[in-house]
Amino acid sequence: MQNGASNQVYETPVCLQYTESGVIPHLCWELSSLINDENSPLIVSLSKTIIMKNAVQTFGKGFAKYANIPENRPFILTVNDSLQAIKSGQNDKLGVAVWTPGGRQKINSENFTELISIFKPKMFVSLCDSDTPIDATVKRVDRSVTRTLSYLDDCLSLKDNIVFAAVEGGFKKKQRMFSAEETAKRDVHAFVIDGFHMYGEETVEKFDTSDVKQLLKETLNLLPRDKPRVMFGAFNPKTVLELIHLGIDIFDSSYACFLTERGMALTFSDSFDISNLNFQTLNLLEKDYVEDFKPLSEKCECYTCKNNFTRAYINHLLNTKEMLAYVLLNLHNLHEYYEFFRNVRKQLSIS
Ligand SMILES: [Zn+2]
Repeated sequence: MQNGASNQVYETPVCLQYTESGVIPHLCWELSSLINDENSPLIVSLSKTIIMKNAVQTFGKGFAKYANIPENRPFILTVNDSLQAIKSGQNDKLGVAVWTPGGRQKINSENFTELISIFKPKMFVSLCDSDTPIDATVKRVDRSVTRTLSYLDDCLSLKDNIVFAAVEGGFKKKQRMFSAEETAKRDVHAFVIDGFHMYGEETVEKFDTSDVKQLLKETLNLLPRDKPRVMFGAFNPKTVLELIHLGIDIFDSSYACFLTERGMALTFSDSFDISNLNFQTLNLLEKDYVEDFKPLSEKCECYTCKNNFTRAYINHLLNTKEMLAYVLLNLHNLHEYYEFFRNVRKQLSIS
């Protein structure tokens, strides 16, 4: 994958950095440098930032400068936020419903292209209708596919952007194949395989690769192999590995942030082996950790573990609602999630 802003090349599978309004949750940019995330591009979602439109417009230099994002970190504007569930039944011919802190906003092609001209992202995901849960009707899925293709054509009329095109079709084969074939005909830079889940907590709890495996394989077969395939969502390491084997190249780090918000820590067994993946999530809020003076993970090289912040200390910080708990946990969780991707790349290259 090539970074359009600096021509930096990223080895795949790669993990994009999840942000809330252009900031890694709980971390300032100085602290973020402690995570070895290889300066991967950031994802910035519409729902968290659309309320800043007027301020960014007045500022006049685009979202990255407005949000003080470091120059070496390009961002990708996305429609959906990986940690925010889509509310079903809200999209119609007036546009795609985006839930902002100030309530619902309908976004159509005109609003979207205006936003692109104000936010000035080098890369963005085309406007898409992702409301296709497993029980969606054929009519609903048809509309999602048709509208998403029409939004894509409007997005492609913008010049000089790297466009990640959304491929829809829910769980319906005919619609998936049509969406993939039509999207592949367009001059796009990457494909976002969307509409297989509804984002948010439900993705962590319910997304099962076996439900989408066959349809995903057939979809990917219709897409040119020289362009990256992306799947956004809070996926645990096992799911990520299954999706990599099916042909997905690009993910995001929202799963690590999801765990942090719940006072949980991601850990892997000492010997990392992709053919026998062994990971755990520790719930640091539990009483078991009150007198556990071990680091979150014995072999972890993150700031939190290397500086002897113990499980007991983090349990105490969580119970006293200290913000430092989330800072320390997110530094660890993001470190482990990125380390997982590094290990996967290493083992895939030698297998
Ligand atoms: Zn650690």
